[in-house]
Amino acid sequence: MAIERTLVLIKPDGMQRHLAGLSIDRLENTHMDLVGAKIVTVTDKLAREHYALLEGVGPFKDRKLFEHLINFIKGEYHGDPRRRVLALVYKGEDAVKAIRAAVGVTNPEDASPETIRGAFGRICRKHGYYENVVHASGNLEEAEREIGLWFKPGEILE
Ligand code: ADP
Repeated sequence: MAIERTLVLIKPDGMQRHLAGLSIDRLENTHMDLVGAKIVTVTDKLAREHYALLEGVGPFKDRKLFEHLINFIKGEYHGDPRRRVLALVYKGEDAVKAIRAAVGVTNPEDASPETIRGAFGRICRKHGYYENVVHASGNLEEAEREIGLWFKPGEILE
C-alpha cells in the first residue's frame, strides 16, 4: 500500500444544497488527511481540462450530455453567479480507493446509502444528468493530473 493524494470537488449542486459539511464529515471518516482546500470559480477552460479524458467516451459520445457535464461543473444550473466549487486534496494510505469508497458509484440511484452520493445524490429528471454532489479522482494517475489543474504546488501541504 502506498501513500497517495486524491482530488475531491464539492460540485455546484452540493454547494447550492449546503452539503459541503456533511460531505466532508464522511470524507473525514476515512481517516485520510486533508492537505489542501479552496473555493474555486470554475472557468470554461478549467472545466474542459478537468473532463478532457471523458470527451467522446462512453455516455459522453452524446455531445449534448458532455456539454451538460461542462455546464454543470461550471455551476450554470445552480443559480450562483460565483460558480463555486470546493476543491479538496486528501492524502493517506490508498487514498484514491478510500475516498472513492466514501463517495460511492457514479449513478446516485445505484450508490450505496452509506456513501455521499447514495445519501445525497439525485438525478435531474429534466435533463437526465446526475446531481451526485461530489467528484473524486478515479485512479492515481488521474488524481495527480487533476490536483495539478486545481491547485498550485504551494497550496498543498506535504
Ligand atoms: P465519476 O464521477 O464517478 O468518476 P465519470 O468520470 O464517468 O464518473 O463521469 C463524470 C461525471 O459525469 C459523473 O460524476 C456524473 O456527474 C456524470 N455522468 C457520468 N455518467 C453519466 C450518465 N450516464 N448520465 C448522466 N450523467 C453522467
